[in-house]
Amino acid sequence: MFSKVHKKLTFLCIGLIVSVLTIMSLIYLIVSERNLKESHLFSFQNDTNTIMTNISRYEIMTPYWFNVLEFNEKYMVSIYDNNIPLWICNRFQDPQRDALFEETYKEYMTRYQNYYEGSYWNSYPATFSFTSKITKQTYFSYFNIIEKENTKLTVFVLYPLHNLERQIINQRFYFLLIDLIAIFILSHLAYFLTLKILNPIEENRKEQSRFIASASHELRTPLAVILSSSNACRRANEQERDIFLHTIETEGIRMSRLITDMLTLAKADSLVWSINKVPVDLDTLLLNSYESFESLTQEKNIDLRIILPDESIPPCHCDADRISQVMAVFLYNALSYTPSGGYIHIILTVSDKYAQIQVKDSGIGIPDEEKNRIFERFYRVDSSHNEKEHFGLGLCIAAEIIQAHHGSIKIKDTPGGGSTFLCKLPL
Ligand code: ADP
Repeated sequence: MFSKVHKKLTFLCIGLIVSVLTIMSLIYLIVSERNLKESHLFSFQNDTNTIMTNISRYEIMTPYWFNVLEFNEKYMVSIYDNNIPLWICNRFQDPQRDALFEETYKEYMTRYQNYYEGSYWNSYPATFSFTSKITKQTYFSYFNIIEKENTKLTVFVLYPLHNLERQIINQRFYFLLIDLIAIFILSHLAYFLTLKILNPIEENRKEQSRFIASASHELRTPLAVILSSSNACRRANEQERDIFLHTIETEGIRMSRLITDMLTLAKADSLVWSINKVPVDLDTLLLNSYESFESLTQEKNIDLRIILPDESIPPCHCDADRISQVMAVFLYNALSYTPSGGYIHIILTVSDKYAQIQVKDSGIGIPDEEKNRIFERFYRVDSSHNEKEHFGLGLCIAAEIIQAHHGSIKIKDTPGGGSTFLCKLPL
């Protein structure tokens, strides 16, 4: 399921990346190619203007001048005086060149004959682009017929666009290459990013499955005892029946406690539990917790003490019932894991911003490698610690409550042995 969602998300991201890159590249290419063509046309028009100015200024057009014009074979220039070529050079005596100029002339006539018909100017210029059927190439062409006294000067300038076309094809190729590289890199990034995003969701799902499995396991034991006891009840005599009924009741209470704990955590998960924050005197709250565990610790011969600050302390904004619940978890654990003759100390200290509660015991302690894990749901350090009353949910409930108060919870070793639970609450 997870890998399917991951695949789908990755493909979705890749699809988006490809679309965005393609659209951006197309827009850029269209704009840049249009600008490129316009700038070439502009420079062609400038050059033809210069040529025409030179023609009108200089009476004699030298071979050198023609050479300059055709330098680098950028332009092809032909000038006819009354249909006689003005300058003939071997280099340019090419039948294909003559045919090309013939073709340009025809193109000019097709496009501009009607336009100039009936007008009596002495110059008939036109700049246009056309694709030759002979060379299969596209050209910018300039054509002009200048009529002066008894002479008719015909000027052709052709600018083959193969360099421009090559430039455009190169640009398209580089863009395709850059796009492909970008798609390759971004696709990998999308793969790892979606994995990173989905990982916590997957962890959460696994956590929930583990929770359900552990909950079912914990519920199965009391349920099996209840079923077998009720079965035995049918065949039992009066005295035995009382024992079985007592077992059923004890297991029922255990199940109810477990279900209450699970519901508390479910509420915390779905963020629907209510934290009713009011100003609370923490010393009074801790004294109440102390009193409720006093007799239990006495029964087990454990020294329970409470150490409060001498001066009066400011009230803490918290939910008194929830903080008492946290104290019950700490004290019940300390009581369970501290052998007879040990001690449990409840210590309250206050700073400017925080109140710190410590529950220190001289019990069996918690190994370093387990310190983080004991806040996991249904986690118990090892089976030798396990008692029927411990489901491994108390500390996670305590941690959720402290988190909901924007406080922090920590655990450390008690010097000389045992564990100390510390929780900080903002005042
Ligand atoms: P439980 O209901 O099992 O006590 P908790 O979440 O309260 O569940 O505690 C998780 C585990 O942490 C316990 O099973 C126990 O192994 C360990 N633990 C908690 N408090 C103490 C303590 N004061 N001393 C030693 N071990 C403790």
